[in-house]
Amino acid sequence: MSGFDSEFDAVVVGSGPNGLMAAVTMAEAGRRVLLVEAAGTCGGGLRTEELTLPGFRHDVCATVMAMALASPAFRELDLDVDWAHPPVPAAHPLDKRPAVLVHRDPGRTAEALGRDAAAWQATVGAAARAGFPLVDTLLAPLSLPKAPFSAARFGVPAVLPLTVLARSAFRTPEARAVLAGMAAHSMLDLRAPLTSGYGMLLAALAHRVGWPVARGGSQAVADALAARLVRHGGEIVTGHTVRSLRELPPARSILLDLTPRQVAAVAGDRLPPGYLRRLSRFRYGPGVFKMDWALSAPVPWRDPSVASAGTVHLGGSLEEIARSEADVARGRHPERPYVLAVQPSVADPSRAPAGAHVLWAYCHVPNGSDVDMSAAVEAQIERFAPGFRDVVLARHVMGPAALERRNPNLVGGDIGGGSARLSQFVGRPVYGVHPWATPVDGLYICSASTPPGPSVHGMGGLQAARLALRREERAAARV
Ligand SMILES: Cc1cc2nc3c(=O)[nH]c(=O)nc-3n(C[C@H](O)[C@H](O)[C@H](O)COP(=O)(O)OP(=O)(O)OC[C@H]3O[C@@H](n4cnc5c(N)ncnc54)[C@H](O)[C@@H]3O)c2cc1C
Repeated sequence: MSGFDSEFDAVVVGSGPNGLMAAVTMAEAGRRVLLVEAAGTCGGGLRTEELTLPGFRHDVCATVMAMALASPAFRELDLDVDWAHPPVPAAHPLDKRPAVLVHRDPGRTAEALGRDAAAWQATVGAAARAGFPLVDTLLAPLSLPKAPFSAARFGVPAVLPLTVLARSAFRTPEARAVLAGMAAHSMLDLRAPLTSGYGMLLAALAHRVGWPVARGGSQAVADALAARLVRHGGEIVTGHTVRSLRELPPARSILLDLTPRQVAAVAGDRLPPGYLRRLSRFRYGPGVFKMDWALSAPVPWRDPSVASAGTVHLGGSLEEIARSEADVARGRHPERPYVLAVQPSVADPSRAPAGAHVLWAYCHVPNGSDVDMSAAVEAQIERFAPGFRDVVLARHVMGPAALERRNPNLVGGDIGGGSARLSQFVGRPVYGVHPWATPVDGLYICSASTPPGPSVHGMGGLQAARLALRREERAAARV
């Protein structure tokens, strides 16, 4: 028996970007939609809170909205969000040499890479020039490709392990390091296939659309999606953790913005044992250890050009970053971890009181780790920004368990909704032409555990909702 007294055509469980996108898609198609969220506010990975001190607005999870800007799902919606671009999308400081800056302009980026200028243009630059048709093909991997030729051209180097591409196509330590910093976003061992693809795509997006933040915080993106849903008659219930499908009102389509382990828990009594077995083989990736800081002043980067970058990759050379990620893949805690840092207030000063700043950073750790990595993370920042600790007013720390308590989709601290390994790139959460569908009629999965995977792009939600609508229409035509 459900506690909901209205009638709905569609119910969505979970209000991350994918759940919100699924709900908006169903509502815009004229369906009466209920969205149920466990937390007190909508957003999932799109939440902004004063985690440290009053007046300092920290994104609890996602900040960098390159994928949202590039995604066909978001492009079609044209949301009322003010995107703020940092002067430089990303920087990669190095010991004893100038930092590498990844500019919006591929030519300017390539120029600074000296002997690797042509290689950068031939790989990352070519992907950026291929533009939205290529991005659309990569973000909707099971649809008819919009750019088959550029996808094939991108695909050949993309399947290579980053360590292989970097050492075969690039000669300078700068280019190799910057590609490693990009590829390490995948949370994979950089000797794994496809890591080049993740790195090249992210770098190409820096050129194509930039790496902006949402003015006021990522919560603004969730709020805009929720407002769109409500405008189309959708209803939102927050503070309700769904433990079983039996709690939900009857609906023709139910879309779960959940990862496979939670899907099994919530819908296990309805799903056939064979499918449950396949879900149980789904692999989660490493966790993250995240820190947020309130700062009295900008980070004192040794190379001052880093101050203009929204995102900073801290880990030094290709070899060092590869070692760090290999350690994590083997279940170890790196001594000098690769640290991904984001300075949102460089692009959006409204995040902090005048003159002050917010900063966040995480390193990768084995899934479910309970090791305190604060000292190691801060040491990496100090290495490239001596005196950093002197500008810290307050810090907030979340290991894997704290992250999962806030959002049960972050299983063991895995922020990707499952490992991004090659076998789970398309076979996500299971192999099939329609991986969003479950064997139960009208029951779908729409989270980052479905193609095209993690990040704020809403494509899992859009694809699952479109599939649900197509199937509803086919069923109606049969009657
Ligand atoms: C620290 C961190 C930094 C990140 N940085 C970036 C970034 O800069 N850029 C980027 O593009 N991506 C980033 N990501 C990844 C991005 O946030 C995710 O890929 C994205 O949010 C996944 O969206 P989703 O809709 O699939 O799930 P989520 O956003 O995880 O949302 C799932 C929602 O379901 C709810 N839920 C779970 N179980 C239940 C239940 N039983 N009943 C009801 N509700 C439930 C949860 O509370 C949550 O609100 C980051 C993630 C983290 C954690």
